[in-house]
Amino acid sequence: MKIALIAHDRKKEMIVDLAIAYQNILEQHDLYATGTTGKRIMEETGLSIHCFKSGPYGGDQQMGAMISEDALDLIIFLRDPLAPMPHEPDVSALIRLCDVYEIPLATNIGTAEVLLRGLDRGYLDFRKVIHKGKDKPISF
Ligand code: PGA
Repeated sequence: MKIALIAHDRKKEMIVDLAIAYQNILEQHDLYATGTTGKRIMEETGLSIHCFKSGPYGGDQQMGAMISEDALDLIIFLRDPLAPMPHEPDVSALIRLCDVYEIPLATNIGTAEVLLRGLDRGYLDFRKVIHKGKDKPISF
């Protein structure tokens, strides 16, 4: 699966800890991240991650473009609900696109753990539900 990782600045430490704790699961998948988040995780874990631009410089929008191409399967986005963001419109657009395309999205560490554990146990075969058992990509 293609998994995207994003964390706002005050959540960066947390996403690094998450990546360390779930490295054995994450390393089985194709990983993508916004620039600074990806760099931090790679430095601390050695995981291989395709890094987009930093979020405020268009990274969130690059991820949104991938979602619209049906090219991401799961997003972990540890957002900071207590700090104003210059790129808030991009953040909202990314979250909205996840709902448009029915992409599993965790916006806090609790849900992120549930998704990663579910992924590991094969519970996230959500496309089977969407497509009523047909193994076809979603089409709009
Ligand atoms: P960053 O971007 O990983 O480059 O810090 C995250 C964001 O703020 O959207």
